Order: sequence, then C-alpha cells, then structure tokens
Amino acid sequence: MKVVVREPASSGRRIDLLESAPRLRRIVLSRGFQPILMLVMLAPFVLAIVAGLVGTSAGNRNFGIVFVWIVWWALLMVFLVPGLGRAWCTVCPIPAPGEWVQRRGIVGGSNRLRTMGLRWPRRLRNMWTQNTGFLLLALFSTVILTRPSISAGVILGMAGVALGMSLLFEKRVFCRYVCPIGGFIGLYSMTAPVELRVRDRQVCVDHRTKDCITGNERGYGCPWMVYPGKLDRNLDCGLCTECLKTCTMDNVVVNLRRPGADLGRPVRSKKVDEAFKALIMLACSIIYPAVLFGPWSTIKEWAAFESFVGWALYAAGFLAATLLVVPGLFWLAAAAAARRSCGGLSVRQTFNEYAHALIPIGLAAWIAFSVGFALTNGSYALAAVSDPLGWGWNLFGTRDAGWTPFLSGTAPGIQAAIILSGLVFSLRTGLRIGFRHDPSGATAVRATAPVAMFLLVCTMALLWLYLG
Ligand code: SF4
Ligand code: SF4
Repeated sequence: MKVVVREPASSGRRIDLLESAPRLRRIVLSRGFQPILMLVMLAPFVLAIVAGLVGTSAGNRNFGIVFVWIVWWALLMVFLVPGLGRAWCTVCPIPAPGEWVQRRGIVGGSNRLRTMGLRWPRRLRNMWTQNTGFLLLALFSTVILTRPSISAGVILGMAGVALGMSLLFEKRVFCRYVCPIGGFIGLYSMTAPVELRVRDRQVCVDHRTKDCITGNERGYGCPWMVYPGKLDRNLDCGLCTECLKTCTMDNVVVNLRRPGADLGRPVRSKKVDEAFKALIMLACSIIYPAVLFGPWSTIKEWAAFESFVGWALYAAGFLAATLLVVPGLFWLAAAAAARRSCGGLSVRQTFNEYAHALIPIGLAAWIAFSVGFALTNGSYALAAVSDPLGWGWNLFGTRDAGWTPFLSGTAPGIQAAIILSGLVFSLRTGLRIGFRHDPSGATAVRATAPVAMFLLVCTMALLWLYLG
C-alpha cells in the first residue's frame, strides 16, 4: 500500500487516506456509498422502533432499548466519535427519508430538491437549538432509557421532525442546526484523527463553477450548506462524501491527522453557543454517573419521574448546574485567565477560546461513562438479539443468556485511566491556547492556570464518582 504524506492547507502532517487506498476511494466515490450505508442502518432502527412500540415493556429485554441505548450508544461514544469523528452522520438513518424525498430518489436523484427551500433563520444559525434539544432529552433520559415505548417515540419524533424540515427547509437544516445528537457529535468530532478538507485552498478560490456547492452529475451540492474550500474544522462537515464526488478538480481529501488538530485554534465568533455546548456536555458527563450510580437514591427516583414534584426539583437542579453553576465557574476561570494574559482578549473571547480545552475531558468522561454502562449491561444484547420483541422467540439460541456484567472489578480503573488521559489532552489544549496568546512561557502558564484548576476540579469529581 502506497502512503501519501503531504503538508496541506491546515497545519501539521496529514496522510491522504483515500489516495493510499484506491479500492476504498472507488467505493466512497460511488453515488450509492452513503445511501446504501443509510439503508443498512435503517433496518435495525426500524426494528428498534417496532420493538419499542409493540414489544415487551421490560427495557432490558427489549431490542429498542438494548440496541439503541447500550449497543449503539457505546459504539458511538467509545469508537465512532473519538476514532472517526462525524462518521455516524454518514450512515445515520434519521434524515434519510427526508433526504430521499427531497432528491426524488435514493441513489442518483435530482439536484433540484423537492422542498419549499426555506432558509433557516439567521438568528438560529448556531448551536442553541441543539443545546436546548439535548437538555430536553437529558432531562427525561432516565425515562427514555428504561421505557421502550417512550424511547421509540423519541426516535420516531426525531425522524418526523427531520422529514418535516426536509420538506420545508433547504438541504439538511435538521442535521446542521437542530439534531441534538449531531450537536455533540460535531463538537467531539474535533478531537478525531480524521478530517475531510480541501488539498489546496487556492484551487477552490480559482475554481469558477464550485461544483461542491452546486452539485453536478456526479453528486449533490453540499447538503450541510458548507463550502469545503473554507472548511477548517470537523464541526460543520457531516462527512456525507458528496464533495469528494462532485469536485472536478480532485481537490477534496480525507486525511489522517494528529488527534484534536481542530482544538486550540482561534475562535472568531463572539457567540457563546459552542462554549455552552462544551460546558453542557461536560456538566452532564458528571451529573449522569452521579444520578445513576451515585449514593443518592432519592435523586435517582426524582430523575426517573416517580413523582412530578420530585422530577421538577431534579429538573431545576439539573438546569441550574448545566446552565448556571458550571458555566459560571468556568466564566470565573476565564476572567482570571484574561486578567493574567498579555493577549488583550476580552473575558468573553477567553471563555470561547478556552472552551476548547473542555472538549477532550468531556469526551473522555462520556467514554468512561459509556464503557462502564456497556460492560455492565452489554450482556443484555445476547437475549435481545434472539428475542427482540420479548415475545419468546429464540432466533439465534441466545434468548436465555443471563445478565453478566464484564470486568466489574477492573472497570473503575479503566474509567479512571480514560478520564486522566482526557485531562492530559485538555491541559495540552489549554496550554496551546495560552501559548498562542502569550508566546512567552511563564505568562502562558500563568494565564492557563485558572482553566487548569477548573479542569482539575471536574476530574476530581469524576474520579470520586467512579472510584468512590
Ligand atoms: S446530525 Fe443527527 S440526524 Fe443528521 S446525520 Fe448526524 S446524527 Fe444523524
Ligand atoms: S463538506 Fe463535503 S463531506 Fe462535508 S457535508 Fe459538505 S459535501 Fe458533505
């Protein structure tokens, strides 16, 4: 296999993955690549919805709960997002029906989309809709995770909203601005060692027809409303692979790169939506294990909606923690960093820039949570795959497999190691930001110290929850 190494528009060494693997390149460039993967994924998702609606109400015996919230979630958080960034968005079946209706076909449909073509309002072109959707799901997560019919309703609801938005709005507005799952996948995809970028930006500038935007007979114009020529981070690209097909200049590449190469780069926006996304995700990664595995059974009952008053108290505490307490503490850290820095940034800008340092530790906390959850509950998958509806079938002879937690003795150690790796990655990102503003070492370290303290406090809380 020939390995091609080049120095592209973005900084650092890159390996062009498709140039190194011509057979894979041919597959990716075929028009059926994404639709076929979506169709393959659609099958288990339809089964999950059917199982949720008509199958057993025992969550741990129902394919809908076991497949989505144990198997899919663990694969997503432990392998897909850290390893391949937004690869889930390549295969996600949720927007598929809407996209196929827009294109009037599944493979090789029309570039003239069947939609009212409304534009998403400018003031909503940020992550706040995704933040709100995620918080709503998170508030009800204990119920969604355990009750199959509610879980199925949530997935159906998302597919319905995606379809409705495809009819009203241009392209994949749902994925880009609304999907609560896509929001955090995008944020954490910036840590991935894989990226889709243009080889040479000047080629894009000089290319008059811009087929990646308009589409051509080889593929569609970017469904995520991105101009690949300006792409400099994974957050906005849904890895749909269309621009790889449409680019007549062969200027789009999929690179292997240093993990986290998008982090610590200048943040031009004054909006705090992305910083809040990182803070909400980090706060939730601490609250979830506290509620589900912590010593406070009353809070767990409140979260499970056993009484409205209890749940309302939980909801108030949850929202206060995610939107006020954790962001407030980080704002204080950012204010101290801004004071100590010579970079002349405002507190808001410092808040936005250093929020990148929260991404690795937040992802590590979610990986640790998902590893523990999968090791404890993964064995339910054996019974659920043989008897997906809980109706007594025994398709693969594994229906009677009992619940067997794996590695229960070593799981906390594995989780602690993951969290500590996340801390190291976050501290490196923080220092990178510090050195960008204060090239003199001592000042950079002094400016980063308050953010490092914040990261240490979060790490201590996580270690305490997992190690006891
Ligand atoms: S953004 Fe959401 S709906 Fe769209 S592809 Fe990604 S996960 Fe799926
Ligand atoms: S930039 Fe390319 S791969 Fe990314 S969403 Fe747009 S067309 Fe798809």
